[in-house]
Amino acid sequence: MLPDPATGPEASPPTFPALGTPGQFELPSLPQRLAAESPGWVQEVDVVVIGSGIAGLTAALECSNLGKVMVVTKDVVAAGSTRWAQGGIASVQAEGDTIEQHVQDTLIAGAGLCIEESVRVLISEGPAEVAKLIARGAEFDRDALGELQLTREGGHLRNRIAHAGGDATGAEIERALVATVLADPAIEIVEHALVLDLIPAVVAPGEAGAVAGVTLHVLGEGTRGGVGAVHARAVILATGGIGQIYAVTTNPPVSTGDGVAAAFRAGARLRDIEFIQFHPTVLFLGAGARGQLPLVSEAVRGEGGLLVNARGERFMVGQHELAELAPRDVVAKGIMTEMAREGVDHVYVDGRAMGEEVWRVRFPTIWHSCRQAGIDPAHDLIPVAPASHYFCGGVETDLDGATNLGGLFACGELASSGVHGANRLASNSLLEGLVFASRIANRLHVDLPPHRVADVDHREPGLIDRAVVPAMQRAMSRYAGGLRSGDGLDQCAAELSQLAGKTSSEGGLDTWEATNLMTVATALVASARLREESRGAHWRDDFEGRRDEWRGHLIARLDHQHGLEHTFVPAEDS
Ligand SMILES: Cc1cc2nc3c(=O)[nH]c(=O)nc-3n(C[C@H](O)[C@H](O)[C@H](O)COP(=O)(O)OP(=O)(O)OC[C@H]3O[C@@H](n4cnc5c(N)ncnc54)[C@H](O)[C@@H]3O)c2cc1C
Repeated sequence: MLPDPATGPEASPPTFPALGTPGQFELPSLPQRLAAESPGWVQEVDVVVIGSGIAGLTAALECSNLGKVMVVTKDVVAAGSTRWAQGGIASVQAEGDTIEQHVQDTLIAGAGLCIEESVRVLISEGPAEVAKLIARGAEFDRDALGELQLTREGGHLRNRIAHAGGDATGAEIERALVATVLADPAIEIVEHALVLDLIPAVVAPGEAGAVAGVTLHVLGEGTRGGVGAVHARAVILATGGIGQIYAVTTNPPVSTGDGVAAAFRAGARLRDIEFIQFHPTVLFLGAGARGQLPLVSEAVRGEGGLLVNARGERFMVGQHELAELAPRDVVAKGIMTEMAREGVDHVYVDGRAMGEEVWRVRFPTIWHSCRQAGIDPAHDLIPVAPASHYFCGGVETDLDGATNLGGLFACGELASSGVHGANRLASNSLLEGLVFASRIANRLHVDLPPHRVADVDHREPGLIDRAVVPAMQRAMSRYAGGLRSGDGLDQCAAELSQLAGKTSSEGGLDTWEATNLMTVATALVASARLREESRGAHWRDDFEGRRDEWRGHLIARLDHQHGLEHTFVPAEDS
């Protein structure tokens, strides 16, 4: 378990201004639990995994010989981000590539905030985890000699991205993992089951908190419909990203930050949540487009696609030595600067030189999305603009996925394992899901203590009305997106506070998700307001460039007496 911030050695005094200056930075008050009926049924398992993407399914498989394992997932099993992943999964496989090179590329992308020890774990254990994934049936694209075809993406100095079905990597990984899980009698999957909250465990006075299971709502009939409870010795959160807090995102509808919000309510520490990676090249479908939009993968640029403005001029040349293949934050900023300079809302990817055959075989998913929008990538420029894509921070974990709460583990996009720092290196995230899910299982094989369930009052008032979500998403995109400023974030916080005033007493999927979205958005805006510098994926107009005093991690925590609290932990030198 992570040390408690109140007693741990890293509890240095905050070096940032206090939140809540009257009239300047108002925040909605955050609920301590989601209001719901008391559980009508209880099930006991050894390990409960929340989420069925690459992280959750890998964790379940690796834990399956520990006893009874349950995977709870809020929609159908394949509804998360994993199946949308296009570009691929990074690991050192090619001759001439080295662990050290991949580590350095990751550290550079992370803009001074990666935890080097975590990065070394990720990169050195990655190749074996990818081999395990292949052994579980994932079929990656291979050349005529049967070797993995490896490509490059932004920030990688070597070809090391394995892909499947051209640009359908995530779909193939999810297919293989689901098939393996379904064949494992120790694992039960419960679909259409929305986890609401973590159930606290009994702890001795003065001890850090712990969890003993989850409450959930199952859409179903019979013995396990409605609100219930799953008691477990270990809870593994793997609920993925938070993209739906923004108006446009690459993330699917399930990415509403439920796991982050539940962990936060239970007292878990959130680290570096202000760092949201905006994918530079998302298909631009008009100014009024909302929700999940198709991605034009970085791999298109890896295969020769260029970024151009309406006059056909390449604007990334001269901005970075890797031009179109610079790290994502650099490309996203390059595009946003170009859009502001030209007064337009999109730029273009020019992939015409690749020809129709390459488009069809190597990028069938993107080809299909473009054709659906009336664009022929072999002959037309593809309109693109940045959109919210990846949650670089998250629930703070140690090298074994343990959080500051006993019995609670986290992996995948929801977790902050320390590997991404201020900006994720492309295609490192699928790898993170594999490596840290396995490490959690390794830890649980050594230590899986039981926890005693504590009493909870489920009648917390004040869910957020679903009707405010579009306005919340607009405010987040406008003020807390790829370009931020202190004034904008103050305005955003004020708008969130006003919207959060519209409450509902009706528990249900819509209001639970709305409350989670508002919780995550509020915590994110607070951290973004505090970090007075521009670094990685966090770009402040009013504080240009990195500032040494800010080279460290912002930890947000919900204290049930004092509300939202922050701690600043200086980064270790790497
Ligand atoms: C369009 C797109 C392209 C990408 N391309 C790449 C790429 O090429 N390479 C790469 O490395 N990364 C890529 N990423 C990122 C990567 O796909 C994700 O970071 C990764 O798949 C996250 O896996 P996960 O298991 O953490 O979460 P997910 O795959 O998102 O799974 C989360 C699971 O949690 C469930 N869930 C959520 N809330 C609840 C709840 N309350 N109760 C129960 N269940 C819940 C969801 O239904 C889902 O099953 C891409 C992402 C997107 C969106």
